[in-house]
Amino acid sequence: VFNFCAGPAMIPADVLKKAQQELINWNDQGTSVMEVSHRGKPFIELAKQSEQDLRDLMGIPDNYHVLFCHGGARAQFAAVPMNILGDGETADYMNGGYWAQSASTEAKKYCSPNEIDITCERDGKTAILPAAEWPISDEAAYVHFCPNETIDGIEIRDLPVTDKPIVADLSSTILSREIDVSKYALIYAGAQKNIGPAGLTIVIVRDDLLGKAQSIIPSILDYTVQVDKESMYNTPPTFAWYLAGEVFKWLKEIGGVAEMQKRNEEKAKVLYDYIDQSDFYRNDVHSDNRSLMNVPFQLKNPALDSVFLEKADAAGLKALKGHRAVGGMRASIYNAMPLEGVQALVTFMQAFEQEHA
Ligand code: PLP
Repeated sequence: VFNFCAGPAMIPADVLKKAQQELINWNDQGTSVMEVSHRGKPFIELAKQSEQDLRDLMGIPDNYHVLFCHGGARAQFAAVPMNILGDGETADYMNGGYWAQSASTEAKKYCSPNEIDITCERDGKTAILPAAEWPISDEAAYVHFCPNETIDGIEIRDLPVTDKPIVADLSSTILSREIDVSKYALIYAGAQKNIGPAGLTIVIVRDDLLGKAQSIIPSILDYTVQVDKESMYNTPPTFAWYLAGEVFKWLKEIGGVAEMQKRNEEKAKVLYDYIDQSDFYRNDVHSDNRSLMNVPFQLKNPALDSVFLEKADAAGLKALKGHRAVGGMRASIYNAMPLEGVQALVTFMQAFEQEHA
């Protein structure tokens, strides 16, 4: 079975096998990792190692803190403005799709964000304006954007052109390609796509953003509290944290993010190339902004959608239904999806096309 779910998504098979072996006896403790104290030495060691591995993988500079939080990316939609906006301040929200818009909608509870539409049409397809054309406001305290729009299948490889702190929702792109963390002030990402199980959220925050939280902020969302408590202000999602650590080890073993990016580019090319040469399927995103991770595609005849999904599922190609906001299909091909999974999908699509064209 190949699972194309947008999240929770596949976890590398080798990691799952190891976790299975360790389930009832982790680290010679005679119990599972779920049953040990997060304050005990074995778990603290796990926590430190996983942070170090993530730092190595992403090249996170020393003046950044790495937090392992609860609440998913949506908790961060609220945490970001509450942590870094001063009284009466506001921020720019670059809107390239569904998730950027969702972040901005949540931020409206805490400020009046400038919502800036950065989408455009190019050659009859959806695209993103070049970053140099994004109208960043003078008064913005930070600039928020979402580099990979999971639902729309849009990827923004540019960074905002600004000296202001850049805040990015990397939920569906973290660890899929190399980035320069030092260009961002704050990164957050839900774990359930490229990191591990749902319930864990990674926050990477630059030192100078701490100590500014509004007094009403729930302590659990306060970055300064979480830094002081080493992400253990309350009981962290220990199993998800453990599995994330195992995914980081796996990624290091296969050659790190550079190797992962190479593999991801190869996988995405196989699928986009097939869609582009076909008259039966189409993808509506301009090649400048096509996502490496989420590939939405439409059948030219939408009446065939349900039979496509049924047959794909029976062939072991799971969760290809597009998000309800977009319709059609979506293949999420995160880090754990092997090339063989994409090849199997293309083979299925070819056969379906031959049968129904
Ligand atoms: N941001 C992006 C880019 C996402 O893809 C998602 C979920 O798919 C979210 C935010 C919401 O994440 P969560 O469910 O962890 O709050």
